[in-house]
Amino acid sequence: MSRLDAPAVLVDAAKTQKLHSQDDRSQPIPASLETSPQLQYDLAIVGGGIIGNTLAVALQNSGLRVVSIEAQGQSISVAKSRAYVLSMLSGQIFEGLGIWQAVLPQVTQFSQIQISDADYAGVVKMYPQDLGTATLGYAASHEVLLNALQTKLQTAPSITVMCPAQVVAVEYSSTGAEISVQTPDREVPTKIRASLVIAADGAKSALREQAGIATTGWNYWQSCITATITPEKSHQNIAYERFWYAGPIGVLPLADGRCQVVWTVPHQQAEELRDLPEREFLKELEHCTGGLLGKLELDSQRWLFPVKLMQSQQYTAARLALIGDAAHCCHPVAGQGMNLGIRDAAALAEILVAAHHAGEDIGSDTVLKRYANWRKPENWVILAFTDFLDRMFSTSILPIVIIRRIGLFLLDRIPGFKYLALRLMTGLAGKMPQVAKIVS
Ligand SMILES: Cc1cc2nc3c(=O)[nH]c(=O)nc-3n(C[C@H](O)[C@H](O)[C@H](O)COP(=O)(O)OP(=O)(O)OC[C@H]3O[C@@H](n4cnc5c(N)ncnc54)[C@H](O)[C@@H]3O)c2cc1C
Repeated sequence: MSRLDAPAVLVDAAKTQKLHSQDDRSQPIPASLETSPQLQYDLAIVGGGIIGNTLAVALQNSGLRVVSIEAQGQSISVAKSRAYVLSMLSGQIFEGLGIWQAVLPQVTQFSQIQISDADYAGVVKMYPQDLGTATLGYAASHEVLLNALQTKLQTAPSITVMCPAQVVAVEYSSTGAEISVQTPDREVPTKIRASLVIAADGAKSALREQAGIATTGWNYWQSCITATITPEKSHQNIAYERFWYAGPIGVLPLADGRCQVVWTVPHQQAEELRDLPEREFLKELEHCTGGLLGKLELDSQRWLFPVKLMQSQQYTAARLALIGDAAHCCHPVAGQGMNLGIRDAAALAEILVAAHHAGEDIGSDTVLKRYANWRKPENWVILAFTDFLDRMFSTSILPIVIIRRIGLFLLDRIPGFKYLALRLMTGLAGKMPQVAKIVS
């Protein structure tokens, strides 16, 4: 019985994205899977991106039978050319999960965060001592993070990884769900059963749509251009956020001396920037970064992403929980989106493990409600914070310009303000998952 009379089919199996079978790091799916007793799981995680895999790793010693299902071959999913701001809390969660040793040597630790407003001379400089910590956060590449999680999962005997394998339909009942999974080696989808399904299938989550979960939010008037650059001057591990009237520009220091640029401007201007000849693009970039890093060289393609804010009206439905971008998306200013997803995964794992040990049904409404009650309000705070930042700074209306410059002045002069802002940005302000407390 599929829920709410919604069609059980997520994707037409005949039209599924090409599943790449020649991926040497994929775990082979047992030939006997269709009849194997292993077909019954406690939990099926749909989506093996950073967030789905964080949850899988967090459940590795839980005693729960977990299957992780990812449509893209492993070598394809790691090959995303993107770097993220990784918050201090996310670092602590990864440390608690046992992947930090593999990640830390390959990330940059921020020695300073600099915030500036267009051509206003005052620059707010934030140092680790403002927070009483050794750093203010990290810049980590997608490849490093996903590789570390995938490697951990390969040695986790309690987790079955189906990859490449695409979920094409889910049918829910009062006790669980039947999931149809299309793999490259079979004509017909394999059926598996689980007590609880986790949608970690990204912003366009088909599972969320099929469950009839509505979303709140809007598309911004801006798009985001990302690119990797080599600066003439050393980045000195400083993370820069410079607000222009068109939108913010973030420059993240990478471990190899290069920088990742995340540049938000109105849609048309973003397209123009993407299509400019390389030298002209770099000239614009050198101007907008205020010459901080000297002459710049372009080291990657320019990628363009429309920007949106989205919050799912419910994080759970019967036998289903949403995490990561499937549950929410925010403006990339301040680099928060993935960090929220990592917290979702850690919080949900904690709740499920406790419920399992207490003999509760992990897919019951009572248990799932605890997750929604924890994470939804906290995510609203950050969604609102990023929206406020973008709207406050992406405007040249004089009274707003004056107010925000007074705000920056106070932020720079009053230690308590800096401390509070840093607590929020580093993820240390909300309810802390147990796994992060172990190392804090
Ligand atoms: C320009 C830009 C810059 C950003 N910078 C930052 C930053 O600095 N810091 C930060 O914290 N966040 C940042 N973010 C946000 C961050 O990229 C996302 O929040 C994060 O990648 C979401 O991860 P996810 O695992 O939830 O989703 P995804 O990465 O989208 O993963 C979903 C996975 O599900 C799989 N899948 C989908 N459907 C199926 C199916 N039916 N069956 C099986 N598998 C399926 C997909 O193949 C995919 O691998 C940025 C975003 C943008 C656009």
